Amino acid sequence: MSKSNAAAVEQSISSDSNSAGLSAEDIKALNDKYYSLDIEARIQELYKDFSQDKVMLTSSFAATSAYLLHIFSRFAPNQKVYFIDTGFHFPDTLAYKEKLTKMFNLKVEDVRAEAWKHEYTVKDETWKTDPDFCCSINKVEPLYNLQGRYDIWVSGLMRWQTEHRATLDIFEERNGIIKFYPLVDVSKEERDLYIKEHDLPFHPLVAQGYSSIGCTHCTKPGDDRSGRWNNSPKTECGLHL
Ligand code: SF4
Repeated sequence: MSKSNAAAVEQSISSDSNSAGLSAEDIKALNDKYYSLDIEARIQELYKDFSQDKVMLTSSFAATSAYLLHIFSRFAPNQKVYFIDTGFHFPDTLAYKEKLTKMFNLKVEDVRAEAWKHEYTVKDETWKTDPDFCCSINKVEPLYNLQGRYDIWVSGLMRWQTEHRATLDIFEERNGIIKFYPLVDVSKEERDLYIKEHDLPFHPLVAQGYSSIGCTHCTKPGDDRSGRWNNSPKTECGLHL
């Protein structure tokens, strides 16, 4: 695997069209409609506007993933949930995944990089020298290989989390697929209130000062996303850029 190959993968992901065949006007109309709905209504409406077998939901089973997964388990109990197993997760994350899967009766499917590509990043310790390349192999490419089957990709990003996320809309066209961010305008306080009211469990590392939790190599305790790719300008793994 060369870095030029990885760049070619990323370039091939870029596209002007989207698999749902939606125009810019269609996306604007969806945003206009969904902004007037609350979060639960947005998720119910999604399955009226799109077929469930065209909806891709991903979760990193990170700090507060229980929030979005709980809502989906209530309104779309058969929705498949993809987990990108980078091979570098904390054991606590895998335990949290098992816990939420049982609690909410989730249909979780793991997604991984091809073994030889992942092994390359292990031997090269690529997260030290080129974290963008490491993320492209272990996160972006495995998801890209699935993306063609779906029209809509659901993700739980919220605007307050990072500067990049502050510009997101509920529906956006990104790299050939329509992204759906139903939580985009939820405040941290609203999220925490829902978690409290429904008595949902946090990721076990939250109690140890972690707020944003990814791979072991790139996660430190800290507020919000300050603990990710510590001492690096990188703030996103590339999945949502
Ligand atoms: S978060 Fe770090 S270890 Fe995980 S895939 Fe990205 S660079 Fe590699």
